[in-house]
Amino acid sequence: MTLLAVDNLTVSFPTSDGTVQAVRGLSFSVDAGKTLGVVGESGSGKSVSALTMLGLNPGADITGSAVFNGKELLTMNQQQLRQIRGADIAMIFQDPLSSLHPHFRVGWQIAEAIRAHTSVNKRDAKTQAVELLRLVNIPQPERRVEAYPHEMSGGMRQRVMIAMALALKPKLLIADEPTTALDATVQAQLMELLVQMQNEVGMAMIIITHDLGVIASVADEVLVMYAGRASERADARTTFFSPHHPYTRGLLGSVPSATGVVGSRLTPIIGSPPSLISVPTGCGFHPRCPFAMEMCIDDQPDLVEIPAGGHHVSACWLPPEMTGVGVAMDTARQRYASAHRGVRSSKLPGVVAAVEGATVYA
Ligand code: SF4
Repeated sequence: MTLLAVDNLTVSFPTSDGTVQAVRGLSFSVDAGKTLGVVGESGSGKSVSALTMLGLNPGADITGSAVFNGKELLTMNQQQLRQIRGADIAMIFQDPLSSLHPHFRVGWQIAEAIRAHTSVNKRDAKTQAVELLRLVNIPQPERRVEAYPHEMSGGMRQRVMIAMALALKPKLLIADEPTTALDATVQAQLMELLVQMQNEVGMAMIIITHDLGVIASVADEVLVMYAGRASERADARTTFFSPHHPYTRGLLGSVPSATGVVGSRLTPIIGSPPSLISVPTGCGFHPRCPFAMEMCIDDQPDLVEIPAGGHHVSACWLPPEMTGVGVAMDTARQRYASAHRGVRSSKLPGVVAAVEGATVYA
């Protein structure tokens, strides 16, 4: 059953330098009990999309629709949104220090979140806060419940945020870089905890991250974003083994491999993400893409179905059958692209680097 359906969402911010087009026609859905992983570089619109759904982007120009559990979120007033935030949709924010109030003890903050949506008394709410801290593996929770945020490490603060988000067993948990501040062992424990909670309460999750390892371990479906748009969407296995979009291919090529040859080099994506005030014409990825063609400069590709991949869609002018990783497929992509190149596309930075051999995916 679809729990959240986002349709053609656009978010822009007027600034003195021009309009920042942070999200440009984004559509996706999340089913109850499932996990959607959202990946992309900084500035691709991942966090802005989530904040917009929760009404936390005041001043933004927003169009489109985001229907949660049959109700339109984008037309709700602040009071209606307050009832949904925390109880039905919880969010773990990227920066736990600025998300926790510095003047209040963490136990009080968790208890207040519980009391804002339920009728439990102060003492019971505090008892629940201790149990939640224990659940997220904070040592000596009876003592830590009295701590202020500045008395905790970054990892502990992140776990407090997770405890607070889980307090009311929400239907949807949005986790924005939930494990960035944590070491690898604690990271794995917390992801396990989130999955366990998901199984217990049937909670859906949206995990926003740069970390493809986190995505591989928990996501059912993956949404890859670039320059405010969805560039590819598929189930997790297809994303890792049969990607179609060159940006997804580039992200995978940039990740260290446990089975890689010792001494071999990673393959970064050439260049940087574009300014969202002046987004490139056509395909937003064209200046960096090793397979860019003439049509990529002028025409923006829509998401189209990739026939072999179930619910796999990709926004790229390369033929839909060109999916997969490996030298043979990249050579086929390059041959097709060369046959469709002209003077302008031959000079693009990504194409020049590919021709010079700098972008050969591992
Ligand atoms: Fe974009 Fe063209 Fe590269 Fe596809 S081949 S990602 S459309 S630039």
